[in-house]
Amino acid sequence: MKKIIILLGIPGSGKGTQARLLVRDIGYAQISTGDLLRELEQNEHAYPEDKAALAAMKSGSLVSDDLIYKLAFTEIKKHLDAGKGVILDGAIRSREQAERYQAYFTELGIEDSVQVLEIGLDDETAYNRLTKRKVCDPCGFILPYSPDNEFKFGCPECQGKLVVRSDDNPETIRHRLKEQGNEALKPILSYYNELGLVHTVDGSQSIESVDAEVRKVLQE
Ligand code: AMP
Repeated sequence: MKKIIILLGIPGSGKGTQARLLVRDIGYAQISTGDLLRELEQNEHAYPEDKAALAAMKSGSLVSDDLIYKLAFTEIKKHLDAGKGVILDGAIRSREQAERYQAYFTELGIEDSVQVLEIGLDDETAYNRLTKRKVCDPCGFILPYSPDNEFKFGCPECQGKLVVRSDDNPETIRHRLKEQGNEALKPILSYYNELGLVHTVDGSQSIESVDAEVRKVLQE
């Protein structure tokens, strides 16, 4: 299996859910830039200029590239040095970022150990998912709404409290899908297609079916 697995997909496509399933079974580290930014928000000792950059996140826009590289590259290096592979979950959201990450992998001498998996989903289905899901406050588990669970039982992983993420409100979701939806994904996909690295999995299927397809692709 390649050392770097890049999960691409619009918000709500299921990247985080699939990354967690992979982490559980293949022992790779999940690097979600969204999670790293939310941790930064809670960190009292973070640089004020870094915290200021988070205003963009609250409104559903992209945060600055430099902050993303600082957070993501530190994590990538840490896990690679410890002998682990990494799953990049939503860490790349523009062609410029894709190129910069690839340059970083070249600096590390691992540019050939990269695999890109797109979890495809249309913007409207993503909107419906994002307006209905909840996340676990302590552990970050993402729970889609279903008439069977109705969020009555807390987090299925740690029994923690389920909350609505602050950027999962209709207005911010619309903005996220405008800036980070399928239109924005196209140039990123075309970059990785030029490198011949992309496999696409249909993200509208059940979590289990997407997982099964992802595994098949990773084993090829
Ligand atoms: P997520 O948890 O993946 O939905 O990300 C939450 C928010 O973090 C996004 O709406 C962006 O504001 C920000 N973000 C996450 N990853 C990136 C990235 N690679 N580049 C810029 N902004 C990002």
